[in-house]
Amino acid sequence: MKPFLSAAILCLSASGFAQPSPKTTYLRCGSLYDGKTDAARRNVTIRITGDKIDTITDNAAPAGADVIDLSREVCLPGLIDTHTHVLLQGDITAADYDVQLLKQSTAYRTILATVSARRALDYGFTTIRDLETEGAGYADVDLRNAIAAAVVPGPRMKVAGRAMDVTGAYPLHGYSWELKVPKGVQEVDGADDCRKAVREQISNGVDWIKVYSDRSYFVRPDGVLDDVPTFTIDELRAIVDEAHRERHKVASHAAALNGVHNSVEAGVNSIEHGMYIADADLTTMVAKGIYYVPTLFVGEYVAQGRAAEGAKVWVDMIKIHEDTFRRALKAGVKIAFGTDAGGFDWKIDPAKEFAIMVKYGMSPAQALHAANMSAAELLGMQDEVGSIEPGKFADIVAVPADPLQDIQQLEKVDFVMKGGTVYRHAQP
Ligand SMILES: [Zn+2]
Repeated sequence: MKPFLSAAILCLSASGFAQPSPKTTYLRCGSLYDGKTDAARRNVTIRITGDKIDTITDNAAPAGADVIDLSREVCLPGLIDTHTHVLLQGDITAADYDVQLLKQSTAYRTILATVSARRALDYGFTTIRDLETEGAGYADVDLRNAIAAAVVPGPRMKVAGRAMDVTGAYPLHGYSWELKVPKGVQEVDGADDCRKAVREQISNGVDWIKVYSDRSYFVRPDGVLDDVPTFTIDELRAIVDEAHRERHKVASHAAALNGVHNSVEAGVNSIEHGMYIADADLTTMVAKGIYYVPTLFVGEYVAQGRAAEGAKVWVDMIKIHEDTFRRALKAGVKIAFGTDAGGFDWKIDPAKEFAIMVKYGMSPAQALHAANMSAAELLGMQDEVGSIEPGKFADIVAVPADPLQDIQQLEKVDFVMKGGTVYRHAQP
C-alpha cells in the first residue's frame, strides 16, 4: 500500500498546479515614519507584493489597484516587544502565579496563550521575543510554529522555552517539602549541568536562552539596589559560552547590582529589567554592545500589589529604576523596547511603556526607535523587520495622529498588517 500511495501523491504534484502569483496591495498613508529617519514623509504609497514591501513612492496607486486607504493615518513599522510572556496571564501576587502552574494544564495555558498572542498583534506588536513559559515547558515553541504556519494569528515570535535558574531560587515556593510542585524554570547547578541544559533547550527548539541571574532585592542605605546573585560567574559563563557556540543568544533577568554585574561580565546579550545598574557596568554594556531592556511599566504596575503583600521594596524600586534608565540613556547604552507583558494582564496595552520611556527622558523618536530597529537588531532580525523598506516583511501599523507629537498615539493602533495580511483595520 505505502509505495502505491506515494506514487499517487507524486503524480498529483507532477501534474503541476500553477502557483497563484502573489497578491499586490497598495497602502496609501497620510504620513509615514519608515523607522530609518525621524522625519515623516507625507502622502506615501507603499506597494506590497506577497508578504514583502515592494516599493515606496509619492505616486498614487494605479487605477483599479487594491488600495487600503490610510490617508488620514500615520503609518509606522510594526512594533516589536522584546520581553513578553504569552503563557502568563498576570502575576502581581504569588497566588496569581501559583494558581496558573497548579490548577491549569499546559494545554489550557496554551489556549490562553493563543489569545494573548492575538491581543499582542491587535495592539500593533508584529514581532515579540517571548522570554520563557513559566512552567509550561516548550509550549512557546509550538505556538511560534503554529503562528508561523498560519494556524493561529499572532506576532512573529522568538522564544526562550523553559528558562534557567539554580535550585531553590525560583517559584513555586512555600509548599510542604513533601510535595513535588512544578517549577517556573529548569533548575540547573554547576557549569556542566548548565551546558547540558542549554544543549537540551536548543534541541527542543528555543531561539533564546533565558536565565534568572538574581533574586531577593533590598535597598542599601546608600540607595543601591542589592540582591542575591543566583548563578556563580562560572555557571553563567558556561551558559553564555555554550549558547554562543551554538549561535544562540542569552537574555538575563538581572534587576540589581550583582545579577547585572555577573551577567555583563559573562557576556550575555541583553539585561532584562535592570532596575539598578552600576555606572561601571553601564560602561561595559556599551563596550560589549549589550542591550538594556528596561520593562518600566510592569514595575509600576505590580508595585502596590507586592507592597500590600509585604514587599515594600517594589515601591522603592520605581525611583531607582527611573534613575538607572536616565543614566543608561546618558551613557549611550543600546535600549530595546520590552514590557514583560503577561507579568501584567494582556488586556492592558503594553504600548503604555512608551509614555514612561518618554517621561524618563527619551525623545518620542528614541522610544519609537527602541521598538523598531533597535529591537530588530537585538533579535538579529534587522534585515527582515524594524523598518519599512523594500524587501522587508510588510509589517506595518497605523495610528490616528503623529506619535512624535503625542507618544500615547501608540496606544491607539487601529491598523495592523503582518506579512502583507491585514489583521486589524478599525474604520475611523
Ligand atoms: Zn519577564
